[in-house]
Amino acid sequence: MTERIGFVGLGNMGRPMASNLQRKGFAITVFDVNPAAVAELSRLGAAAAGGCRELAAASDVVITMLPDSASVEAVVLGEQGVLPGLVPGSLVMDMSTVDPLLTDRLAAAAAARGCAFVDAPVGRLASHAARGESLFMVGAADGDFARVLPLLEAMGTTIHHCGAPGAGIRTKLVNNYLAIVSCAFNAEALALSQRFGLSLGKTLEVVHGTTATNGQLKIAWASKVLTGDTAPGFTIDLAHKDLNLIVGAAEAAGVPVPIAGAARASFNDAREDGYGGRDFSAMVDALCDRLQIARPRLGSD
Ligand code: NAD
Repeated sequence: MTERIGFVGLGNMGRPMASNLQRKGFAITVFDVNPAAVAELSRLGAAAAGGCRELAAASDVVITMLPDSASVEAVVLGEQGVLPGLVPGSLVMDMSTVDPLLTDRLAAAAAARGCAFVDAPVGRLASHAARGESLFMVGAADGDFARVLPLLEAMGTTIHHCGAPGAGIRTKLVNNYLAIVSCAFNAEALALSQRFGLSLGKTLEVVHGTTATNGQLKIAWASKVLTGDTAPGFTIDLAHKDLNLIVGAAEAAGVPVPIAGAARASFNDAREDGYGGRDFSAMVDALCDRLQIARPRLGSD
């Protein structure tokens, strides 16, 4: 029997992910507090629920793709939330980036209700999600992994089973530590290059040919901020949220991460200056604007 899928959270990531499920033939019911996002999925043929509990009653598997820990906790565990509306034997898959201790609590609450729980946070960017080319880091029991695999294959191309529930979100925080901190030091390095009056093209040619090479600068930034495109994507606000999760989880694990703390201060500055809703590659615009240095743009020299 085909499973009925519920999808909560239709933002920059959830909208393209749910669209891919719908296009690839899954029967999905959607909910978001933003009616415009729901209307877009309805136009593709998805059913719309009036709330999380109603969505759960119409679903065997519920996927959540929400901004932060607080929204996931409210949506899954709230009185009018998903879990109280599910029948035993159902499955909840949270794909948001959240506090791993919340993930552990969600898994325990699902088990207490006789339901399965999978954490499957997402790597890569919103543009990959639109093309169905996301990467997933999955924490799941073996049988539950097999159950969600067809869904993940409809939304992405690279699927890593990282271990039991909780292993996916912890892998995601390690990944985002590297990706987000590199945005803070890329911004400083390019602001320095601009202040020195160097050619952006020549500077990039040099650093991409040495051990300074990094994927944010070489691949992501080359098609985003360096061309003048700072539409999200992944916002500076969400990157800052992830740095808070990373610092908190590292502290809880007794691992000092002073560089993450410094990067968080840079992201704080960018948010204070009004860049919170821009793509996280716009860290360099925030810094250059603050220092009154020309923004680095490909082809401008
Ligand atoms: P977003 O802010 O664009 O979308 C979140 C959606 O959730 C919005 O449509 C919002 O209306 C909805 N929402 C919020 N609270 C709700 C509630 N209580 N009930 C129902 N709907 C609610 O965020 P996003 O960029 O799609 O990111 C989602 C998650 O994925 C975040 O945890 C983020 O860190 C992670 N992530 C984002 C990217 C990216 O490139 N954007 C990449 C990988 C992972």
